[in-house]
Amino acid sequence: MKKTLILIVVLSVLVVALGLSLKTGTQHKEDNREQNSYKQIRGTIRDGDTLFTIFKKYKLELNELFEIRDSSAGIHDLSKLCAGRPYRMTIDGNNRVNSFVYFVDDDSFLNVVRSGSGFHTEKVAIDYEVRIRHIGGTIKDNLISSIGEDREDTLLAMEVSDIFSWDIDFTTDIREGDTFRIIAEGMYLNGEFKKYGDILSVEFVNNGELYRAYRFENGGEADYYDPLGRSVRRAFLKAPLNFKRISSYFSKNRFHPILKRHRPHHGVDYAAPRGTPVSATGKGTVVFAGRRGAYGKLVILKHKNGYRTYYGHLSRIAKGVRREVGIDQGQLVGYVGKTGLATGPHLHYEMRVRGGYVNPLGLKQPYEKTIPEKRMAEFMDVTRKMNRDLASIPVSAPVYAKKDL
Ligand SMILES: [Zn+2]
Repeated sequence: MKKTLILIVVLSVLVVALGLSLKTGTQHKEDNREQNSYKQIRGTIRDGDTLFTIFKKYKLELNELFEIRDSSAGIHDLSKLCAGRPYRMTIDGNNRVNSFVYFVDDDSFLNVVRSGSGFHTEKVAIDYEVRIRHIGGTIKDNLISSIGEDREDTLLAMEVSDIFSWDIDFTTDIREGDTFRIIAEGMYLNGEFKKYGDILSVEFVNNGELYRAYRFENGGEADYYDPLGRSVRRAFLKAPLNFKRISSYFSKNRFHPILKRHRPHHGVDYAAPRGTPVSATGKGTVVFAGRRGAYGKLVILKHKNGYRTYYGHLSRIAKGVRREVGIDQGQLVGYVGKTGLATGPHLHYEMRVRGGYVNPLGLKQPYEKTIPEKRMAEFMDVTRKMNRDLASIPVSAPVYAKKDL
């Protein structure tokens, strides 16, 4: 990845330098000599780096730093540099900055070029080439290890878990032998794969049950719909221990906790390591956050249509979660613990509606949004094409079944 980025910068710097030599070279011979002594600096922002520390390191003029910062004002705030991002600088023979390039994110870079007496700054989009990729495989162990453990593969696995998070609990529902097929945009730079763009369609067979989702623009917004044109989004997520949140939480130690689910009573117990983040399954309002008898540290949320969800035995309640505060679906409410009446760390999750207990695992949720009738034919065309492509993806060989089209 780095190599191509460097190449692009080298190219853009060359173009700038070339432009400069064309402009000045015809006028003054001396400038040509100067141009030959251009020096390139390539670096990566480290923790604590600022433009100031970089300028100091290379003994550059501070007034140029101010000029660069001024020319970038309103385009990108250079007072905060992000650790890990690459930057490039060209310095002329008089130790003056000629250009400064800073990679803001995966999609754009800031191009600061000397112009006249000051600098000119523009934000340039990195122009990826999009190629459709087919990924298929069979679950062994867990979703991430089955798709692949590269950063991009992990992100793709999390994206898949997100799309199905209303239907499948990826921490406890998935089984060895479950299969997945994914059609996603691959973003390429100079012929090299860089990252995934959007997932266009995805299929997951969980315990013999087939789930499919298709990306479709509806009302100016792209979202995922099931084969009948119903939004995958519903009032409650399948589980309060969210695969994506847990995976990002534990990824530092490359540890994917093995969770166990039990139903010894009217709630659901999830055995999980102490500190595992707990997410609100639905959008709601906090009606209780504190200690309550056998529940230990408990959060109760009130949702629409009289539903309430309970999250008990927490080791800690998340910051800002207190009575009457609004909570989004998927928002962190606390961490798994064993406060109250609990022998080991686990989450007690309970759902009630108008005082009566509900089994959250058997909850029949209404579909909240569907594709309008007048666009169904168009949607069906998309699903037909996608289904044909999905069916062509082999699932017998995991990870290396990845194929470019
Ligand atoms: Zn329980």
